[in-house]
Amino acid sequence: MKRAWKNRVVVVTGASSGIGRATALALAKKGAHVVLAARREEPLEDLARECEALGVRAIVVPTDVSDAAAVQRLAEEARTAFGHFDAWINNAGVYLMGRLEETPDDAFRQVMETNFFGTVSGARAAVAQFRRQGYGTLVNVSSTFGTVAAPYVSAYVASKHAVRGFSASVRQELLDTGIDVCTILPAAIDTPLWQHTANYTGWRIRPVEPVYTPERVARAILRVLRSPRHEVFVGPVARS
Ligand code: NDP
Repeated sequence: MKRAWKNRVVVVTGASSGIGRATALALAKKGAHVVLAARREEPLEDLARECEALGVRAIVVPTDVSDAAAVQRLAEEARTAFGHFDAWINNAGVYLMGRLEETPDDAFRQVMETNFFGTVSGARAAVAQFRRQGYGTLVNVSSTFGTVAAPYVSAYVASKHAVRGFSASVRQELLDTGIDVCTILPAAIDTPLWQHTANYTGWRIRPVEPVYTPERVARAILRVLRSPRHEVFVGPVARS
């Protein structure tokens, strides 16, 4: 999405909260139209009204990204509304805390279904459209937990490593196609993620300092949309 923002169309998953919400608003402020996806419709409708007050079009498509057919429908609705889309932000995600022995299999699966398979489904839907158009930018939100190990968050760490490896590999597949693939790796961000978290530890969860704002991640996402890069860390670069 190297051209001017005005009238560009961007699909944002996980737009009902935190980083996705901040990104959609930042895009709308620049003049881009937005397609807003998440499971909860009400916060999406509120956000759509805020975006439209800025003079852009915003459509709401309630979507569970762990449902591949629903993600396909999201792409179809975006195409029906706008005829194309310039970028797709795979941002929807959930966190999970728990020791291995105390964390049910279903909780592990939900994290992988949302964070990893949700990203795979989004990538499939976006790339199919980008190939038809001959251009497009796919942004996948991983985490610094996609680069290091940490105790009591093994499911989340595994899912974000998977997103990072997937994103880098798809990027290589698409070199020279006109389709860019970028990975964003935020450190701790002050969002409602921590309240949405399933927690099998019994401990209070809070982000590890330093904590950054979701608007800072949004700015990083807008920068890669203008000037695509392979990987962008927001906050300290973590390496194991
Ligand atoms: P929030 O909890 O504020 O937002 C998560 C978003 O994902 C919500 O809009 C939620 O909407 C959506 N979501 C969750 N599950 C699904 C699903 N199955 N289908 C569709 N949407 C879903 O957290 P953040 O903004 O912090 O998280 C955004 C991304 O950033 C995530 O991928 C997260 O892992 C990543 N990240 C966050 C960091 C942080 O410190 N906060 C650090 C590094 C990465 P709804 O519930 O309405 O479906």
